[in-house]
Amino acid sequence: DAGRSAVSLRSALQSLPPYKPGKSAASSDVVQYKLSSNENPYPPLPSVLDAVNQVSPQMNLYPDMTCQAVTEAVANRWGVEPSAVSFGSGSVEVASQIIRAVCDEGDEVVFAWRSFEAYPILTGLAGATAVKVPLTADERHDLPAMAAAVTERTKVVLVCTPNNPTGTSVTADELHEFMARVPSNVLVVVDEAYVHFNVDPAAARGIDFFREYPNVVVLHTFSKAYGLAGLRIGYAIAPDYISAALRAVAIPFGVSNLAQQAALASLAAESEVEERITALVEQRDHVHQQLTEQGWDVVESQANFVWLRTGEHTEEAEQIFARHGVIVRAFAGEGIRGSIGSPAGNQTFIVAAQDVLNHLN
Ligand code: PMP
Repeated sequence: DAGRSAVSLRSALQSLPPYKPGKSAASSDVVQYKLSSNENPYPPLPSVLDAVNQVSPQMNLYPDMTCQAVTEAVANRWGVEPSAVSFGSGSVEVASQIIRAVCDEGDEVVFAWRSFEAYPILTGLAGATAVKVPLTADERHDLPAMAAAVTERTKVVLVCTPNNPTGTSVTADELHEFMARVPSNVLVVVDEAYVHFNVDPAAARGIDFFREYPNVVVLHTFSKAYGLAGLRIGYAIAPDYISAALRAVAIPFGVSNLAQQAALASLAAESEVEERITALVEQRDHVHQQLTEQGWDVVESQANFVWLRTGEHTEEAEQIFARHGVIVRAFAGEGIRGSIGSPAGNQTFIVAAQDVLNHLN
C-alpha cells in the first residue's frame, strides 16, 4: 500500500541464526525413531502423571508465580538456600534471563562452538556479541582459549558440560584452572542440561563450583533426565543477587502449574528416575561401543546422545538414517547427533550407522 510503511523490526533480528528444532517423524512405511531432540524415551512416571492430573482442573487459574513449593524442593535437593533458586520455562528461558539480566548492548558472551545452538540466538537477541571459541580437535571445550577470549566487554561465559552436540564434558581440574583466570565480574554459567548422564568421576560438578566461587551459576532442566521436555521447566542456582535479577526479568507466570507439580513429583521419585538414567547410560555406552567396533571415531559422550563426525557427508548420512526410519539431528558439514532412545530405536540407529559407513567408504 502506497504511503504505508511497515513496522521496522529491531536490527538485532536480522543477524539471528535460526533455531532448527529436531525433525519430527514423517508419515512413512518404516517404523520411525525420533532421535533428533535428545528427548527421554520413557513415558511419564505414573506418580508424575497423577500429580499433573490432580492440578489440571485448575487450568483456569494462574500458577504460583514464585514457584514456592518446587523452589524449596530444589533447594533441599542441593542443600542451597531457596533464595538461590529461580525458574524459567525450560532452562533455555533461564539462559535467556541470564543474558538479558547481565548484558548491555555490545557486551560479549563467550561460549564454545559448536555448542547449544540457542546460545548465539539468545546473545544476539539481547544485543550482545557472541564470541565463539572453537572446540578442540577431540570435540572438547578449549577452556584455556575461552579464558583468553575474555575481554573487558565480556559479561558472561557459557560452559556447556556435557556439551551439546558432542557429549564431551569438562573436568573439575580444567574448570578450576579456568575460574582462576577469569575475573569475578564475569558470570560463568555452567549449563548442565545433561549432567545426570555424566558418569565421569573427574567431571566438574556445577554445584561444587557454585559453592566455591561467587560468580558461578548452574543451569538445570527437567527436560532430559526427568523426561518433562513438553512441560517446559528448568532452573538456575545462582548467587542471591543474580537470582533476584533473574526473577525480575522473567516473563510473569512463565512456568505452568502443571510443570511445577510434575517437577515436584519427579523430585519425589528420584529412585525411579535414577533407574531410568542408569538404563539410558547403559544404552549410550552400548551404542558407543558398537559404533567404535564398526570403525567410527566417536568421542566419549557423557550425555544422552552420540556425535558422529560425518563432515561433508552429513546430508547423505542423514538421508541414510532416514531411510532406516531414524530421524537424527544433522549439522551440515560437521556431524550427526543421535539421541539415545528406546532399545529398538538404538538398535536401528546402530544398523543405520553401519549402512552410512558402507556408503561413505
Ligand atoms: N542447555 C542445553 C545444553 C540443551 O541442549 C538444551 C536443550 N536442547 C537446553 C539447555 C534447554 O532445554 P530446556 O529449555 O528444555 O530446559
